[in-house]
Amino acid sequence: MASTPGCIAVLNAGSSSIKFALYDARPDGNLLFRGQIEKLGLAPHLIARDAAGVTVVERHWPEGGLDHHSATAEIMTMGRELLNGRPVLAFGHRVVHGGTAYSEPVRIDAAIMADLAKLVPLAPLHQPHNLAPIAAIAGAAPDLPQIACFDTAFHRTQPALAQEFALPREITASGVRRYGFHGLSYDYVVRQVRKTLTLAPEARLVVAHLGNGASLCAVRDGRSVASTMGFTAVDGLMMGTRTGALDPGVLLYLLQERGFDAARIEDLIYRRSGLLGVSGLSSDMRTLRQSKAPEAGEAIALFVYRIVREIGSLAAAMGGIDAIVFTAGIGENDAATRAEIVAGCRWLGLELDERLNEQGGRCISAAGATVSAWIVPTDEERMIAHYTREALAD
Ligand code: ADP
Repeated sequence: MASTPGCIAVLNAGSSSIKFALYDARPDGNLLFRGQIEKLGLAPHLIARDAAGVTVVERHWPEGGLDHHSATAEIMTMGRELLNGRPVLAFGHRVVHGGTAYSEPVRIDAAIMADLAKLVPLAPLHQPHNLAPIAAIAGAAPDLPQIACFDTAFHRTQPALAQEFALPREITASGVRRYGFHGLSYDYVVRQVRKTLTLAPEARLVVAHLGNGASLCAVRDGRSVASTMGFTAVDGLMMGTRTGALDPGVLLYLLQERGFDAARIEDLIYRRSGLLGVSGLSSDMRTLRQSKAPEAGEAIALFVYRIVREIGSLAAAMGGIDAIVFTAGIGENDAATRAEIVAGCRWLGLELDERLNEQGGRCISAAGATVSAWIVPTDEERMIAHYTREALAD
């Protein structure tokens, strides 16, 4: 009798949610289930769907009912029930920070876990949440392989200049440098571009990951050469609730003249700014698009303006641009934002085919445009599953 095919489990743990996905472990194996527990620490809610999007499990917990450890245990129990005897061969995890040392995924052991914990000060809002499920699984199933896949890794190909701030050498040497994030998304999208689009492999791309978090990446020969995010994921573009790049003098002014402390600054730049702060209404692009309030329009205009400015900067870093690729929630779904960005980049040779853009096809640029424009849906969980399979095969 043929043995039961094994599965790969993927976890993507954020501050208040853990997303999960289960894949067939065979090469290019299908998605089996995906879902998330959200509102951890508040009123946790679990939803799991099968590959067709049909809800197969839904559960609620009372206020404060789960932390990251107990939520991981719930996901493991639910996964076992859903898989009905099919074994999980390995867990793959999204880990936001791999520092300068980790430029590819790695199988986690106690020494690596200790190493990753040392990076917590570089990403205090994300790294501890990424590591909590790894510790929970290592406690419950010590022999199960766990693979860490880093959001910073894709950017380690950037030239040294692109990774440096103009700071004294000893501060740079201590790790205060530009790391870049959203690397798993860029990795996935660039592979899709090279596999499925009619672009030369050496094409100079700007990939625009526009979701709640937003960043751009300049890609040449399939490798990251520059990105808008820096030391932390608050740099670069304006986002749902994050400021993006901000004159550091603003922070000094708030600290010295306005009585802000570090905690209040953190709250301001990560949670109360961006689309939410400027509109005063919402961090959600769909809500802003539906609003008639002038502040909603102003927030969107600033979001687009910042992206257009940064596309120019990345084009300069590559000495030109051959294509732009839109991805993530806004990039994949919001035709109006894509149209406004491309209108601001006409000087670079970009032009949209309005009908294709509205329809949301793959190629959305006009026939005569010298720089092409594309939509490529991202899938960070599938990228993690791919790396986890590779690590198992090694
Ligand atoms: P995250 O960074 O949390 O993964 P997503 O990639 O899911 O975020 O992107 C969320 C953003 O995408 C929200 O601003 C949401 O409004 C926007 N979005 C999703 N669908 C649409 C749509 N059809 N039109 C406009 N914006 C959309």
